Amino acid sequence: MKIETQLIHAGKVEHSSGAVVEPIVLATSFEREGDQLSYRDGFLYSRYDNPNRRSLETKLALLEGGVAACAFSSGLAAATAIFQTLKTGDHVVVPDDIYFGVRLILQKHFAQFGISVSVADFSDPRAVAAAMTRKTRLVWIETPSNPRIKITDLAAVAALARKKGCLAVADNTFATPFHQNPLALGIDVVMHSTTKYLAGHSDILGGALIFREKNELFETVRAFQKNGGSAPSPFDCWLLSRSLATFQLRMPVHSANAMRLATFLEGHEKVEKVFYAGLKNDAGHRVAKKQMQKGFGGTLSILVKGGRAEALEACKKLQIFTHATSLGGVESLVEHRRSVEWAGSTTPENLLRISVGIENIEDLIADFEQALS
Ligand SMILES: *Cc1c(COP(=O)(O)O)cnc(C)c1O
Repeated sequence: MKIETQLIHAGKVEHSSGAVVEPIVLATSFEREGDQLSYRDGFLYSRYDNPNRRSLETKLALLEGGVAACAFSSGLAAATAIFQTLKTGDHVVVPDDIYFGVRLILQKHFAQFGISVSVADFSDPRAVAAAMTRKTRLVWIETPSNPRIKITDLAAVAALARKKGCLAVADNTFATPFHQNPLALGIDVVMHSTTKYLAGHSDILGGALIFREKNELFETVRAFQKNGGSAPSPFDCWLLSRSLATFQLRMPVHSANAMRLATFLEGHEKVEKVFYAGLKNDAGHRVAKKQMQKGFGGTLSILVKGGRAEALEACKKLQIFTHATSLGGVESLVEHRRSVEWAGSTTPENLLRISVGIENIEDLIADFEQALS
C-alpha cells in the first residue's frame, strides 16, 4: 500500500465494538494470562508500551522508511534519548545553525558527564570532517537548519560518518518525510519534533526517533525509555495518529505557499535577504534539489532591511501571521528569533522566521505587503 493509505489504516488499535475510529487506551496496567507470565498483546504497563503508542510508532516508521520508531513526550526528549547512549569522553559535532534547544541540552546538561561538543558549518562537508576527532561518536545534522535555513548534504555527511565509524542522526523536523527521507541516504537515525508539521495543529507536544536498523542502539534507546519513563501519553499518541492521516495533504500546501511567499519577499525592496532553499540563488538550492522531493518545506526566514527596530515593526504590523514561536501548524506564525534565543545566539537582529500555514496564499502575501509598506 502507498503511504497515504498506510497513514490511515496501518497499526490501527481495534475495538470490540467495531468502532471506525481508534479507541484511546488509558489503562496503565494490562491483565496477565493464566500462566502469570504472558500478556495477550504484549502490553504490561503503560510506561513500557501502550496500544496507542504502538499504533503511532508503526506509522512513524513507515513515514520515514525505517524499521522501528520510538515516540517520546517531546522533540527534546527524543534528542536526549540519543545523547543518553553516549559515554564519558565522547565527542559530538553539531551544526552552527541548529535548533538552539538541542545545542543547549548538550552544552549545558551533557557537559557534566564529560561529553564534548564542536560546532561546524554543515553546509560544507569538509568543515564537518575537520571538526571530527578520534573521539567523535555522533554527528548531528539539521537540514534545513534553524533559523537560517542552511542545507546539509545528507548523503555526503552520512558517508563521512560511516567512514569514521560514528553515528549520523538527522533532525528532520523542518523538511519532514514528505520532502526528505534521510534514512534512504545513509543516515542511521531520524529525529523529529512531532510537535511541528507531523502534528500540524500546534496542539500536541511530541518527539520521535526512527531507526534504519533494529540494532543495539535501538535496544539501548528503547530500554532507557522504558526504564527512564520519557513516554508520551495515550491521548497525545492518538491525537498525533489522527494528524498523520492528513499529513500528506497539508504538507504540499505549506510548501507551495512558502515558495510563493519567498518569491514575493525576494523581490520586495524592504527585504534584504530571503533564506529559503527553493529559491534558485539560495546557497543551499543545488543540494536541496538533489535530496528534497516535491518542494522545500514550509518555513523560511528573512532579513528585514534596517535592524532590530525595523524587523520588530514589520512583525507587529502583520495581522494574519500570529506573533509566536514554533512552526508547522495550519496557521501562519512569525517570530523575531533573536528575542527568544539564548545570550550566545548569533542570529541577526533583523531576522524574522516565518512558518507559512495553509491559509490562502493571496491573503498571506497581502498581509506582508501591508506590513512592509
Ligand atoms: C521544536 C524543535 C525541536 C524541539 O522539539 P520540542 O518538541 O519542542 O521538544 C527540535 N528540533 C527542531 C528543528 C525543532 O523545530
